Amino acid sequence: MKLFNENYYDDETLKRWIEDDSLTDELNQKADKIRKEIYGDKVYVRGLIEFSNYCKNDCYYCGIRHSNKNVERYRLSKDQILECADLGYRLGYRTFVMQGGDDPFYNDDLMVDIISSIKKNHPDVAITLSMGEKSKESYKKFYDAGADRYLLRQETSDLEHYRKLHPENMILENRHKALFDLKEIGFQVGGGFMVDSPYQTTENIIKDLRFLEKLKPDMIGIGPFLTQKDTPFKDFHNGDFRKTLRLISILRILFPYALIPATTALGTINNLGREMGLKAGANVLMPNLSPTEVRENYQLYDNKICTGDEAAECKSCLENRVRNAGYEIVVDRGDVILRNN
Ligand code: SAH
Repeated sequence: MKLFNENYYDDETLKRWIEDDSLTDELNQKADKIRKEIYGDKVYVRGLIEFSNYCKNDCYYCGIRHSNKNVERYRLSKDQILECADLGYRLGYRTFVMQGGDDPFYNDDLMVDIISSIKKNHPDVAITLSMGEKSKESYKKFYDAGADRYLLRQETSDLEHYRKLHPENMILENRHKALFDLKEIGFQVGGGFMVDSPYQTTENIIKDLRFLEKLKPDMIGIGPFLTQKDTPFKDFHNGDFRKTLRLISILRILFPYALIPATTALGTINNLGREMGLKAGANVLMPNLSPTEVRENYQLYDNKICTGDEAAECKSCLENRVRNAGYEIVVDRGDVILRNN
C-alpha cells in the first residue's frame, strides 16, 4: 500500500476531479477502498466542546465574527469545560476537541490550567485544541500541559483569495507559519479549508492541496461554505455538496493515512451528508458535547444541525448513522496510524 506523498497527481488531473460532477461516485468508491485498506470500517468519534463564541477576528464568512452584533456571546468557565469532559468521558469519548473563537480571555495560564485539569481527571484522553493563531510560545505551553492535537484550517493558500476572505490585519503567512510551529512542537496537526468559499477558484483549491502536501497534516477538515445571514457574505450561495464529497475523496487519495472528518457543515447541507462523507473517504465524526443552552449561539453559519440535542442524543444519533452507513464506531483516542515528519 502506498502511503504518504507517493501519490502524486498533476494539476490537470486534480482539476478534472474537482470540477467533473460525473466522477463523483467513482472517486468516492476509490477513496472508500483506500480508507478500508488502512483504517478498515473504523470511524473515530471526538466530543466537541465549543467553549467560547467571542472572537477578536472579523473573517467575512464567519457568523461569530467580532462585528456581528446579533450574536449572544458566551464563555464556558473552567468548571463548565471540565463538566463537559466528565460527561463525555462517561459517554465513552476518549478525545475532546475544544473549539472556540479567537478569544484572548483564555490566556496561556487559564488554558494550561484547563488542559492539565482535564488530563489529571482523565489521563487516557487526547485533547485537541482549535482556537486560532497563537505565538509558538503559547502553543508550546499548551503542548507541555498535555494538549495532543491542534486544528487550524489554513482556509486558503492563495494570497489574493485570503485577502478577499479576511480583513487587512489578518495575514496568510502567519496562519501557515502557525501550522508549521505546531508541527515542530510535536502536535498532531490538522489543516483544511471551506469548499466554495466566496471567490474560490479551482486553482485556489489545487494550491491548498499542494500546501497540505508540504505540511503533511495528520488531520484534514473540509466542509462546504455555508451562508450566514449577518456576515458580509450573506448573499453568496452555499458550497456544492457533491464537490465537497469529491474533495473528501481526493484528500483520501492524496493522504491515505489522514484523519478526515465528515463535518457538521456537511450534515447541515444534506441530511445524509455525514454518512455520505464517510462513504466518500472520511473516518472521523465530531458529536457536540457543548451544554445545550449555549449551542444556539455557536452559529458559524445558518441552520446548523444538532443545536437542540443533549450530548447523549448526539451520541446515539451518530452511532445509528454510522452503523446504517456500514461502519464501526471507535471511541478510543484514535491517533493517526502513520505519523509523518
Ligand atoms: N477560531 C478558530 C476556529 C474557527 S471555527 C480558528 O481560527 O481556527 C472552525 C472552522 O469553521 C473555520 O476554520 C472555518 O473553516 C469554518 N467556518 C467558519 N465559517 C463558516 C461558514 N460560514 N461556513 C462553513 N464553514 C465555516
